[in-house]
This record gives sequence, structure tokens and C-alpha cells, in this order.
Amino acid sequence: MSVNATQLIHQIPVDPLTGAISVPIYQTSTFVQEAPGVNKGYDYSRTNNPTRETLENLVAKLEKGSTGIAFGSGLAAIDAVVKLLKTGDEIIAVDDIYGGAYRLFTNVYEKFGIKVQYVDCSNPENIFNAVTGNTKLIWIETPTNPTLKISDIKAIAAIAKASSCLLCVDNTFASPVLQQPLSLGADIVIHSATKYFGGHSDLIAGIVVTKEKELGAQIKYYQNACGAVLAPFDSWLVIRGIETLHLRIKQHCHSAQAIAEFLATHPAVAKVYYPGLPSHPNHHIAKSQSSGFGGIISFTLKTDTEATALQFVKQTQLFKLAESLGGIKSLISHPANMTHKSIPDEKRRAAGVADSLLRLSVGLEEAEDLIADLKQALDTIELQANHHNSKKLATI
Ligand SMILES: *Cc1c(COP(=O)(O)O)cnc(C)c1O
Repeated sequence: MSVNATQLIHQIPVDPLTGAISVPIYQTSTFVQEAPGVNKGYDYSRTNNPTRETLENLVAKLEKGSTGIAFGSGLAAIDAVVKLLKTGDEIIAVDDIYGGAYRLFTNVYEKFGIKVQYVDCSNPENIFNAVTGNTKLIWIETPTNPTLKISDIKAIAAIAKASSCLLCVDNTFASPVLQQPLSLGADIVIHSATKYFGGHSDLIAGIVVTKEKELGAQIKYYQNACGAVLAPFDSWLVIRGIETLHLRIKQHCHSAQAIAEFLATHPAVAKVYYPGLPSHPNHHIAKSQSSGFGGIISFTLKTDTEATALQFVKQTQLFKLAESLGGIKSLISHPANMTHKSIPDEKRRAAGVADSLLRLSVGLEEAEDLIADLKQALDTIELQANHHNSKKLATI
């Protein structure tokens, strides 16, 4: 089911014109025409650019789709998919959806009369029950952020088919190396290529891949009509990132599994969220629909306070405090104070984002070094908690 490294590497074409082994960057706005409308397949780089096209075809192949369409950000890719809808249409979206997608749906599209219902998609029945005659699009992420919930893509695709609506999967967290939603029945896949595709935390990009050509042509129309295209140089950077995607994902998964297992045994940790742990409620679904569990782990602390979490993120050395994920350097974030800050406390806690929840993006350092870093930070807060408790006991 997963993409083989040999196939991945050889799907990146050698330049037919010169034999260049690296894809050429066509840094040009326009293309000279022989006569009006007579050209070599390109006329203006917003409409089509050879470097961008190479990336688009490559990602379409990796996702086993017909059409790839590259945008200036993951959000621009999401935006292009929503543009398929019109006033009165409804979206059913996963409840712990990426914050930027929530903001786009709520603050931009609701005013155009597009309604969104948010449901827990880890039980497909919730989607089935939410479908109305106006539902046109089901939007899921699996795993989700930051609580790593898993949704059954095949079961949800069947509900989408039966309800004549489209299923779009944001496949950013898994990447096509681990999971190919179009093969499981989804109609559209989107990616924030800023994350694992780029892989080096040095660009912002987004991709849409459709299963069917016709749907791909519609989104390609919006790409050109609305203009949020990916630049030739950034397209080249994403291609270069993809060259090592297979290798990087393998290492991310390997280290993340070891780290999740370590965290699960540490006395200062309350709960670990990682689909690769058999204790994860949908571990069996993750195992059946993907060939690995990814590089993102969340966990909560026994001392479930914001202060302890903030102390923890100051204490880690290799895990750098930053938003985003999928790069070579390990990152740590505190969702309650960062990505989920705008959500009211009670609502945030109800969604499983506890005060002490921490999210790790496991990078490409040695797993044992990453574990040692987490261990010293956990031991420090554990020591302080014990000290605090013994002081309390002494004063009783
Ligand atoms: C980052 C992210 C996005 C948005 O992508 P940008 O490239 O930042 O616009 C969308 N979905 C998920 C799951 C993400 O992590």
C-alpha cells in the first residue's frame, strides 16, 4: 500500500531537454508564443509553469490521484476546495480540525452562506447522523491535531458516496508515504506541503490532489482564476523535499514510536496520545489504513497545570518551542497557549486539549538523544512536584 522509495525517487523526471538530473527552475512569468495561442504548452506562469507542473504531477502520482494542483500555502489549497461549494451548501468537518481551516470556514465562508457542522469523526456514525440534504463536503483529518484521533477513511468514504457528497482528507500529518486516502475512497486530498513534503521548515506551500480528472480541472480553474499559485522556486524546494520524504518519514515514525513508549512509562506523564500505541482507542484502524503512525505525539502531565507545561517547554533543549511540524529539528508546542489559545478554556478542555497537553513533532535527531532530553525535563518537574508535596505534608 505504501509508496516504495525506488518508485518515489524515479518518479521525479530527468529533464528531457538537457538531461539535468535536478528539475530545472523555470523562473519566468511568461512564455514566447509562435502565433497567438500557439505555444509549447505554457503561456503565463499563473496558469501553468513547468517546475510547478512537475511537482503537481509528482504529488498526484504519490497520492494515486489524477490531478495535482499546487498553491502558495496549505490554507490556499483548502480555500480552493471550499470554492467548489455555493451559498446554502453545508460542510461536515472533524471537530478538532486545523485551527486555520476552522478560521477560514467560520470567519470567511459562513458569511457567504456556507454552513459547517463540527463532529467527532472517530465514530463514522456521527457523520452519518449529521448529513442533511445540503451536505456537499465532508472534511476530515486523520490523525487529528493535537489529540491524534483516528477516523476510518473507508467507512466515511462510503457515507460520502451514499450521500452524494465529496470526501476531502487533509493528509498533512500522515503523508502519502503512510496513507493514501484516494485509494480508500476519498475524492480529494490536501496537504500543507509546508510540513513533511518540504521537510526542512524553509517554505510555505499547499497541494490539492483529486481522484477524478473533472474535479481536478475545476480546482485548477480556481487556481488560475484566484491566483494563489506556488512560485517556481518554492515548487523546486518541495520537489527536493519529496526526494527524501520516504527516508525521513521512516525515521520520524521509528523515533516517535520509541518516544511514545518511553513517555507512557514515565511517572510524571498522565496520558500519551500516539496512534502507534496499542492503548490508542483506534490503533487497529490506524494500523489497517496506514503503513506507519507518523512523527507527532501529544501527552499530558500528571500535574495538569499550565505552569508545569510552561516550565517543561523551557526545560527541553533539543525540542525547540515553535508552531508547525514535519521538519528535521524536533519541535514542542503547548496548544493551550499557542494554536488553541483563541478557544475558550472550557471548550478547549472538553475537546481533550488539557492545560498541560504538549505536542511533539519528532525530528531527525537520534531517538536516544530525544528521549534523554525529554527524560531530564520530566525528571525535573517530577522532582519539583515531589518537593512541593513533601513541603505541603510538612506544613500539615
Ligand atoms: C499547517 C497545516 C495546514 C495549513 O497549512 P499552511 O501551509 O500553514 O497554510 C493545514 N492543515 C494541517 C493539518 C496543517 O498542519
